[in-house]
Parts: sequence; C-alpha cells; structure tokens
Amino acid sequence: MCLFCKIIDGEIPNKTVHENEEFLCFHDINPAAKIHVLIIPKKHYDSFDVIKPELMANMTKFIHEVADKLDVRENGYRIITNIKEHGGQEVNHLHIHLLAGEYVGRLVGAKK
Ligand code: AMP
Repeated sequence: MCLFCKIIDGEIPNKTVHENEEFLCFHDINPAAKIHVLIIPKKHYDSFDVIKPELMANMTKFIHEVADKLDVRENGYRIITNIKEHGGQEVNHLHIHLLAGEYVGRLVGAKK
C-alpha cells in the first residue's frame, strides 16, 4: 500500500485540515512555506496524468473549500502537482501541494 493510502487508512497519522468522502487535505510533514498542505483523493491514482477530467472538477471545489478554511483566498496561494520522474514526484499517489501564508516566489518567468 502506498504512503498516502496508509494515511487515508489511518495507519500513518496526519494533521488533517479538511476532509470529505472523496478527498483529504493534511499538512505537509516538511513544509516549503508558512502554509503547506497536500490535497489527495482517497481513491488511489498514481498521478494527475492518469485521472479523468471529472475528478479535477470535484477536486477544484474541494481545494476552494481548503483555501477558505485556511483563509488564504484574499492574499493568494499556489497549487502544484508533480508528475513522475521528470516532474519531481516522490510519492506516487496524486497530490496537489497548496502553498500560502507568505510570498512563495514565482516559478514561471522568474529571474535566476
Ligand atoms: P512530491 O515530491 O510532489 O511527491 O511530494 C511529496 C510530499 O509529501 C513532500 O512535500 C513530503 O514532504 C510530503 N510527505 C511525505 N511523507 C509525508 C507524511 N507522512 N505526512 C505528510 N507529508 C508527507
């Protein structure tokens, strides 16, 4: 069973932010910003690359609820999903990173 499936099963503890029947949001164990949470579907998918578009519709609604709960919608936030080796994915269970709580820099068009 994958790491995040174990979190969903309660075998590995997590700091839950928000949850419904389909998705779970919890704090990243190694935060890269003041606020860094992960949003995952409870059903296992290896990555964003294998899902049906319909899943993202529900996930989008859930992410908006998370952003409301964390009170980051006014100042903004970043969502990222890493896909496979070249995308830097380490845990092979689809997850969206949500970073917020401070300026998190620019990824596109940033000067080095
Ligand atoms: P990625 O590199 O996109 O696959 O991201 C995996 C993320 O999972 C990393 O940001 C890790 O810090 C995070 N992570 C790994 N194990 C745990 C855990 N037990 N609880 C919460 N976050 C975790």
